Amino acid sequence: MESQSSIQKESTPYFLCSHLNPTTFVIHEYDKYEEHPFIYVKICDDPPLVILSDSGCGGGTNDQANSRNLRDFIETCPVSANGGSPLNPRNSHGELSRTYSIICTHCHYDHILGLNHFPADSSHIFASSYDKDFIQKNLAEHSLCKFVGLSVPDYEVSHWAKDYEKIYSSPLLNLQILHTPGHTPDELAFYDKDERHLFVGDSFYERVAKDKSYEQAIIFPKEGNFIDYMQSLEKLLTFVDEKNAEADKSRVKIGCGHITSSVDGSEILLAVKQLFLNIIAGKVPIVQSEEKRGEEFVLWREHGEPRFSVAAPKRLVLDVRNALGFRV
Ligand SMILES: [Zn+2]
Repeated sequence: MESQSSIQKESTPYFLCSHLNPTTFVIHEYDKYEEHPFIYVKICDDPPLVILSDSGCGGGTNDQANSRNLRDFIETCPVSANGGSPLNPRNSHGELSRTYSIICTHCHYDHILGLNHFPADSSHIFASSYDKDFIQKNLAEHSLCKFVGLSVPDYEVSHWAKDYEKIYSSPLLNLQILHTPGHTPDELAFYDKDERHLFVGDSFYERVAKDKSYEQAIIFPKEGNFIDYMQSLEKLLTFVDEKNAEADKSRVKIGCGHITSSVDGSEILLAVKQLFLNIIAGKVPIVQSEEKRGEEFVLWREHGEPRFSVAAPKRLVLDVRNALGFRV
C-alpha cells in the first residue's frame, strides 16, 4: 500500500507553469533535490526565440505527473496559462518555430542540469564574462554537482556577456546583462526593458514559498563573497532607481531564482541590503552551525517569521568586517 506522502507526491505536477507578465511565464520545478528552481520562459515572436532564464534540474523520474525533461515540457505539455498550448510547440513536421536562448544566471547544478536537453547546434547559451575560469575550470565542484553525486552537464557557453551588455536590442526584445558577483563569481542579473522586470538569479529571494510548503535561505557556497555581494546589491539598487525615475513608466519588478517571482524591485533590494548590514553588524542571530566543505557554515535568522534567512560560510562575514575594519 502506498503511503499518504507518496500519493501526494504523485499528484503534485513536476513542473508548474504560470504567467509572470504578458510575454513571460515562470515554471516552478518540484525536483528530487528539493531545490525548487524557478525557470523563466519569455516567448518572443520577432526575433522568433524562446528565452530561458536557467534550465533548472533538468526534469525528474517517472514518479510525478509531468516529470518529463524541461525541453519536452516546453514543447509538448499543454499549459493552461498559455491557453492550453505548449509554450514552444512543434509544427506538424516536428519543427520548432522558435529557437532557444538560455541565459545562465550562474552555474549551480539546479540552474544548469536542464542544458543537456537543448539542441547544442541551435541553442544560444549566455553566461557572465566576469570570471570565465569559474565555469571553465573545475565545474564539477563550482556547480556543486560533485557534492550531490551528479555528472556535470555537457554544454558550452556561446556568448560570454559583458557587464551592462545589451544582448538583444530590437523593437520587441531588449535584454541587458549586469554582472552581480557575490553568490558566485559568475552570478548575473538581466533586465527585460519591455516588461520592466529584472531577473536576479540566486542573489536573493524570500524565505517562505507562496503556498508555504517549503522554505529556503539565501545560500552562499564556499565560493561566495559578501564584499562583492554588497557592491552588487548597490549596483542593482542604482540600476532600479534609475529605471524607476523614467517618466510615465511602471516600477521595476524583480524575479528571483527561487521562491520570489514578482515583487517591487527597489523595495526588496532595500530590505535585503538592510538584512546584510544587520548581519555584518552582528545584529542577526546565528541559529545553526555545521561543518561543510572543510569550514563552518552558519544560518542567520531573525526570531519569529522573518522575510529572509541567510546561510553561508561564517568566514564570508568575517572577511567583510576585516575589510571594513570593525569588530562585533
Ligand atoms: Zn545558486
